[in-house]
Amino acid sequence: MLDRLESSVNQIKRFTADASHELRGPLTFARTVAEIALKDPGTDAASRAAFQDIVDEAAKAAIMLEEMLTLARADAAPANLVRMPVDLALIVREVCKATQPRAAEQGLHLSLVTNTATASILGDAAALKRLVWILLDNAIKYSKPNGTIRVRLNLLADRATVEVEDDGIGIAPADLPLIFDRFYRADPSRGLVEGNDLGLAIAQWIAETHKAQLAVQSEPWHGSVFQLTFPRLSALEVPSADSTIGLELLVENRSVGGNSQQSPAVQ
Ligand code: ADP
Repeated sequence: MLDRLESSVNQIKRFTADASHELRGPLTFARTVAEIALKDPGTDAASRAAFQDIVDEAAKAAIMLEEMLTLARADAAPANLVRMPVDLALIVREVCKATQPRAAEQGLHLSLVTNTATASILGDAAALKRLVWILLDNAIKYSKPNGTIRVRLNLLADRATVEVEDDGIGIAPADLPLIFDRFYRADPSRGLVEGNDLGLAIAQWIAETHKAQLAVQSEPWHGSVFQLTFPRLSALEVPSADSTIGLELLVENRSVGGNSQQSPAVQ
């Protein structure tokens, strides 16, 4: 019984991976056709609006497909990430810098407070960037106007912690255990902002593969704090050059129509 269940789950996962991969082509085709039509001066205003909708929706669907593929690959090879000494402080600074303009655009105040200039951990820099970016992106998306986002990086004796705190819409206690599930969206955020509802599932997977803990505390309409706790890199753990295992986390630059969401350039 368990074997049959596992085999059908595996089939679904394979199907998701194959479907996401196969859908990329037709989606890109539809988007390109609409973009060409938009460039044609003979296209009338009504058609122009329709073509623009196609371009925008195709861009969103492309992001969702890419995230589904990331998770499908994670299912297939959960530990398939590079493990190298990386500077978490540098990563956090870079992601803050990259997201600052979007926060400012929305009238949000973003600050970074840290007790260290460097924080060595063992991991995959591209995946870690994506992890911090997901938390910051959510903090921006679910903030209230003129809100404040505080990022804290602390290096302690045995661990490094990153906290992303916002004073936004918060999450109800009943939703808290579910927000890391794929395609879950908590109630107040429905219809408020657009998202693929896969970000935290990817964040959780990246945290797990780094032996990090991802925790959240939240109060509805007061805000949320997402906390990452990484084991510190000890001298004994520094891997030799050949201990790197293949990087399979493929991330493309993402941008969504008018509502631009640029993920860090990770590949
Ligand atoms: P999405 O693309 O919808 O943001 P996520 O997986 O990143 O998907 O998040 C899942 C859900 O968790 C969101 O839809 C939202 O309801 C909730 N959530 C995540 N981060 C926050 C936050 N900082 N403040 C309030 N709600 C949040």
